[in-house]
Amino acid sequence: MKKRLFCLAVLGLSASASGVTLAETQVVMLGTGTPVPDGERAGAGVAVIHDGEAYVFDVGAGVVERATQAAERFDIEPLSPINIDHLFLTHLHSDHVLDYPELLATYWWRRSDQLQVIGPPGTHAMSEGIYTMLADDTETRLKDKSPVTNPEAAHAAVTEISGPGTVYEAGEIRIDAFPVSHGDWDEAYGYKVTTPDKTIVISGDTSIDAEVQRQAEGADILIHEVISRSGWADLPEQWQAYHQYAHTLSDELAGLANAARPDLLVLYHVLHYGAPIESALEEVQQRYDGEVVLADDLDVFR
Ligand SMILES: [Zn+2]
Ligand SMILES: [Zn+2]
Repeated sequence: MKKRLFCLAVLGLSASASGVTLAETQVVMLGTGTPVPDGERAGAGVAVIHDGEAYVFDVGAGVVERATQAAERFDIEPLSPINIDHLFLTHLHSDHVLDYPELLATYWWRRSDQLQVIGPPGTHAMSEGIYTMLADDTETRLKDKSPVTNPEAAHAAVTEISGPGTVYEAGEIRIDAFPVSHGDWDEAYGYKVTTPDKTIVISGDTSIDAEVQRQAEGADILIHEVISRSGWADLPEQWQAYHQYAHTLSDELAGLANAARPDLLVLYHVLHYGAPIESALEEVQQRYDGEVVLADDLDVFR
């Protein structure tokens, strides 16, 4: 039987008003944007909330602000930045990581636990760069009279992914990483989150990829990037070549969705250029009759 999935924001309901409890796994879209400036959309970021914990996938510019808004608006306390203990990075393009220093630094002196970060090779070096950027702030806070809960919380605990497989497992949640093809990145990853009530697949940035399709077969929710075919068609030839190499065109995504048949397909990180953003959704719907939505920041799916 098809599971009932709905989007609270589309229904105009708040989580608390609709009686949502944190016992059920839910997805909160913290950022649906791209490198193209968009005042309505933060950089890439998706939170999966399960059993009182937030698992955040990518942290583009503005994502920490969105997490704070979600915590306040939907009464999801695990999304208060100080409560976010788990960050997973798909790859290190700027639109996926620019709020990493923000997440690390926000109220770090009140953190009891270090931020746990799992990401591709390069995550260690990037973290060291952030520590250097914030070195004076860290040092000053440690030596002045304001209390610091855990001095180690100024830095993250970083694990670099060394290949596909399970990267996190605790209680009833398991998170697997799988490689995706994204332009010239040697290692870019998608993630699959499995809990007792949901399977959620997050593509990250990827060109059309059989591995994403394989991971998404039978998933409850597939969150996938997309580029509008009509927006792409008007780009100069060199940009067309790049985008086809690095991203997934709307009709290609429709083909993937037809093969994988997730219960719900969520479009995020939508590149559309001169075409309206809705063109990406319409182009997918022309070739795919399953449930599909174009996500906005702070949409909630469960
Ligand atoms: Zn991106
Ligand atoms: Zn990218």
